[in-house]
Amino acid sequence: MVGVLALQGDFAAHEAALHRRGVPSRRVRRSQDLEGIAGLVLPGGESTTMLKLLQDGGMEDALRGAVSGGLPVLATCAGVILLAEEVTNPPQPSLGLLRVGVARNAYGRQVASTVTRLVVTDRDELPVSELEGVFIRAPRVVRVGEGVKVLAKRGEDPVLLRQGTILAATFHPELSPHSPVLDLFLKLLGRDA
Ligand code: GLN
Repeated sequence: MVGVLALQGDFAAHEAALHRRGVPSRRVRRSQDLEGIAGLVLPGGESTTMLKLLQDGGMEDALRGAVSGGLPVLATCAGVILLAEEVTNPPQPSLGLLRVGVARNAYGRQVASTVTRLVVTDRDELPVSELEGVFIRAPRVVRVGEGVKVLAKRGEDPVLLRQGTILAATFHPELSPHSPVLDLFLKLLGRDA
């Protein structure tokens, strides 16, 4: 059972991507929903709103505890902003669990959203040379800290990273029908893709 944070954003697309792979999911809307899940998806959306809803719902500590306790996480776009150590443009508080710095909306406004080719930089982790990257008002990773592996890049920018059991994509693999990123996440859960 994989939890999908369902406070706001494109959680339904993540549910569909999991179900296509035969993985059952549960919507996470309160701290109790985190109990008994094998992994967690933090979807894309609007990180400011998600953060506010997390705080209002008193979920921040439970989420921080679960992730720092080793719960495998797939964070996409706004989800990466929630986890990052440092958020700029504009600055925003975050959970500080992923050792990266991110600048929000760094590729431009909604009209600059794009589907582009990404180069895989770690073939041991992802057995393909390229990936499709759907970018929607995406953040840019501006600093990569210790223990964070870069798995794919858009030009010079790291866009797919792994820190232990946290897999972070600044793009939207759930919107690409056969994305190997989802398969890698399932592997982190100890499930075969
Ligand atoms: N621009 C959004 C933010 O800063 C992220 C966009 C997304 O998740 N697709 O929160």
